[in-house]
Amino acid sequence: MTPNREDYLKLILELGGDQTKINNKQIVSGLVVSAASVSEMITKLVKENLVEHTPYQGVQLTTAGLEKASALVRRHRLWEVFLVEHLNYTWNEVHDDAEVLEHVTSEILANRLDEYLEHPKYCPHGGMIPQLNQLVHEKKREKLSEYPVGTKVRIARVIDERELLDYLVDIDIGINEEYTITDIAAYEGPITLKNQDKTVQVSYKAADTIFVDKL
Ligand SMILES: [Zn+2]
Repeated sequence: MTPNREDYLKLILELGGDQTKINNKQIVSGLVVSAASVSEMITKLVKENLVEHTPYQGVQLTTAGLEKASALVRRHRLWEVFLVEHLNYTWNEVHDDAEVLEHVTSEILANRLDEYLEHPKYCPHGGMIPQLNQLVHEKKREKLSEYPVGTKVRIARVIDERELLDYLVDIDIGINEEYTITDIAAYEGPITLKNQDKTVQVSYKAADTIFVDKL
């Protein structure tokens, strides 16, 4: 499925585009699209005043863009919680259905869902669920790829992207798990994480989309 403008806005927000500039390379890897299609979409979003583009630095959401992305993210993440908690979806399975549901969810339905779920604060991927008309500002965190060997970390949030989530399920990493970084291979090679239960190797690319709390 070709990502649409909503997918771009949500990803830019997930990458921290409410506060900082996000470069095209990050968007390319987050959406698994070509650099050319990213440039094309950015041009459209700039015209619609949803993002501001600074050459060589990247894009940042405008207030209008942030409002739109926050409303989408609210619906998307409420459905994710519902699917995981009540229909036994796993965290890598929820994305596609949440994606469809968010587009057919009225404000009243989103509010009722929020009440029914008892106002969850986070989605299964660790993302913030905003209240009605609240803007999303994720807690500022560094990525796993940014810490040196020896650091103790908790997996706090991951980008909501199907291939990444499938990969994390494959290597058996979950949200809120705690690890020590025991090795970082040269040339953007894999990062080794260890705790009492297991040792896992995370590719550099994945580590670049995993946000962690330093313990
Ligand atoms: Zn999520």
